[in-house]
Amino acid sequence: MEGRISGHTGLLALIGSPVGHSGSPAMYNYSFERLGLDYAYVAFDVKEQDVKQALEAMKLFNMRGMNVTMPDKIEAARCVDELSDAARIIGAVNTIVNEDGKLIGHNTDGIGFVKNLEDHGVTVQGKKITVAGGGGAATSIQVQCALDGAKEITIFNKKDAFFERTLATAEKIKDAVPDCIVNVYDIDDIAKMTEEIGTSDIFVNATIVGMKPMDDQSVVKDLSALRPGLVVADVVYNPVETKLLKDAKEAGCTCVGGKGMLLWQGVAAFKLYTGEDMPVEEVRERFFQ
Ligand code: NAD
Repeated sequence: MEGRISGHTGLLALIGSPVGHSGSPAMYNYSFERLGLDYAYVAFDVKEQDVKQALEAMKLFNMRGMNVTMPDKIEAARCVDELSDAARIIGAVNTIVNEDGKLIGHNTDGIGFVKNLEDHGVTVQGKKITVAGGGGAATSIQVQCALDGAKEITIFNKKDAFFERTLATAEKIKDAVPDCIVNVYDIDDIAKMTEEIGTSDIFVNATIVGMKPMDDQSVVKDLSALRPGLVVADVVYNPVETKLLKDAKEAGCTCVGGKGMLLWQGVAAFKLYTGEDMPVEEVRERFFQ
């Protein structure tokens, strides 16, 4: 460590609360060392009300970048100087790059999702994609898939606090990508969901269903919706194989787990910070098995 950190070392950090469990410092510091890049990466527990001050400190300390996790992503989008197209439509930021004192907010969650699909030989261009969920992960996925050329996005969400956000996201996507067809339905309409999945290329669970304590549940209640040829992706990565993915595997679907999305959103952020490619295979082997 004393050999690696000098008076010139650039600083990057993760902000959010809590952050103590995060694997990001290990993943980034390993990659900096492997590529001989003079940066160090730490994690700061920053509550939502303190995001503005954290970003002022980022400028003061001339930090190169910050990753942003919950619950700070929406406030960070309000506090940066500029937003990427995806971050503007999503209204949330998970990566901030300090470009000569100007803070640019990006959202690489959706990019990570699309890259993870590509890693499994699946592309989104021209595809019909049905997504369960309207929260942070779901919104990033819906926006990025539309920007990347999906033909149609069908969204199912509970009639809870996220439903209004889902309707708003649909309108924003239609404005930004008029060629993409977007529809929103109630997730409790099981017949409609079965019908929509039946005409989809890709089905995505981007809700918290499947994660503890709902690890014995799946958003797909009618298993006749699952068929060979359908790609089923889950954003939940703990457990690695959710009930949805188990059901999908049994039905002969192509299955894509959530861990890869986590890896690839980090790869995209690393590129934005350094201009270099993270050593993906080594990072996957060390930190994502
Ligand atoms: P969020 O709180 O923003 O959204 C939660 C979503 O779940 C909403 O759409 C809500 O309506 C839905 N929901 C809640 N209870 C439900 C129920 N009983 N039935 C149906 N829908 C229900 O959460 P988020 O930040 O979007 O995270 C969602 C999941 O995605 C989490 O499991 C999180 O760990 C995971 N995630 C994974 C990655 C990755 O890189 N793989 C990235 C971000 C989030």
